[in-house]
Amino acid sequence: MSNLEKYQLVVGLEVHAQLSTKSKLFCADDTSFGSAPNTQVSPISLAHPGTLPKLNQKAVELAVKLGIALHCEIESYNYFARKNYFYPDLPKGYQISQHTAPICKGGTVLIESQDGLKNIQLNRIHIEEDAGKSIHDADSEYSLIDLNRAGTPLVEIVTEPVIHSAEDAFLFLTELRKTLRWLDVCDGNMEEGSMRCDANISIRLKGDLTLGKRVEVKNLNSIRNVKRVIDIEFERLVALTENNESITQETRSYDADNNSTFSLRTKEDAEDYRYFPEPDLPPFVITQTYIDDITSSMPALPNQVKNKYIKEYGLSDYDASVVCSDKEDVLFFESVIKYSQDFKAVANWMLGPLKYHCNENGIGFSAFPLSSKLIADLISLTSSGKLSFNNASGKVLQALITNPNQSANEAASALNLIQESDSSELMKWIEQVIIDMPEKVKEYKSGKKGLIGLFSGEVKKRSKGKADMQLVNQLLQEKLNQ
Ligand code: ADP
Ligand code: MG
Repeated sequence: MSNLEKYQLVVGLEVHAQLSTKSKLFCADDTSFGSAPNTQVSPISLAHPGTLPKLNQKAVELAVKLGIALHCEIESYNYFARKNYFYPDLPKGYQISQHTAPICKGGTVLIESQDGLKNIQLNRIHIEEDAGKSIHDADSEYSLIDLNRAGTPLVEIVTEPVIHSAEDAFLFLTELRKTLRWLDVCDGNMEEGSMRCDANISIRLKGDLTLGKRVEVKNLNSIRNVKRVIDIEFERLVALTENNESITQETRSYDADNNSTFSLRTKEDAEDYRYFPEPDLPPFVITQTYIDDITSSMPALPNQVKNKYIKEYGLSDYDASVVCSDKEDVLFFESVIKYSQDFKAVANWMLGPLKYHCNENGIGFSAFPLSSKLIADLISLTSSGKLSFNNASGKVLQALITNPNQSANEAASALNLIQESDSSELMKWIEQVIIDMPEKVKEYKSGKKGLIGLFSGEVKKRSKGKADMQLVNQLLQEKLNQ
């Protein structure tokens, strides 16, 4: 048994997600990303004397929405606490957070792991405000501070230590981000920092029930990096243990350039945050009516939509999963099936040629250059046999993208690609070919089935390439096997 196989990996994730509100958690400052530094900072964000925070209702609504989607218990009596610490990017000297009383308790996220469906247990989701940003690489002598982000509303989503592979952590974060985006709770944009993850990692001998000492790797800014870090730490912790070296409970950081982690501080220097209830904010109560109202306003969740596509639209499990991987993909699918009831064909087109175009151009489906109606028309030209799939998804699609001011039929006709799919017309060519090639027909009937290609090639030639070859093949077989 290799050393790694002796141990079980144990991971708990803490995800910070920036709530998609227009203004900050306790004041009207704008939250949009990318503005000039320190232009979205009012005296309230800085907690100047005499200023008072006021809770943004929208932030509460979004947190509750998320809690409902993730099957959490929603706390009725809520209040905030001050977490006191000094850091240059924390202008107030404290962060307002829900310390002991999270707005959402428990909950689960369902993932489709390699070894089956798993419910990843959540510990809690709580609301808190973000700090500002320290910028260390813009100036050679000084660290710079941008306080635009200070006071932005976050939810922190905390799992129980129940994840046992880097792959499952990856799936969990992917699923969570999908839900966040689906509900417009958070844009899930990890590069811009609106979703960040801390990974808590420990190991124990397989079969052990007690948890080992953990390391916490902070501020991971991509799902792939979380996966990498878990693999790195698993191997590092196993190596330490196997060498009889002790594991220190510490906070680490990830160096993407070297794909390695390094220690930031050990937990022994952990600060005492002197939490106390925030005196400037009254407690707030969430009623069952409020929860019911939000529930009834929520869209069907990704899994529900996926099941509908399988059961009602006949999509395969795989196709339904891919179509439902993103909200914009589902919206696109829904808009095309308004004009075409051929659900499977729409899914095939989406996963094939349309996706290809998106990837080539670095765009999502929401930016697809053709209207849903035009796409649906193109698909039905193919389904009805008037246009081969190859021509439709190649030349005609391209022609439409170049000039979307024509119908699918016009584009195909202009390229001379409309094919003959009228069976009686095709039958005339087929019968003629059979009459003209009596020897070959005899050989075919005595077992040389490969000759079918010769016949269909002949039909194609005589139709000047216009025949719907799928239909020709079908008719030829029927005719020859009579
Ligand atoms: P803190 O707030 O100090 O980081 P918490 O107890 O709230 O501590 O835990 C934070 C995260 O660490 C949770 O996701 C939890 O599941 C995870 N965690 C706690 N102990 C361990 C452990 N021994 N191994 C792996 N993850 C752990
Ligand atoms: Mg932590």
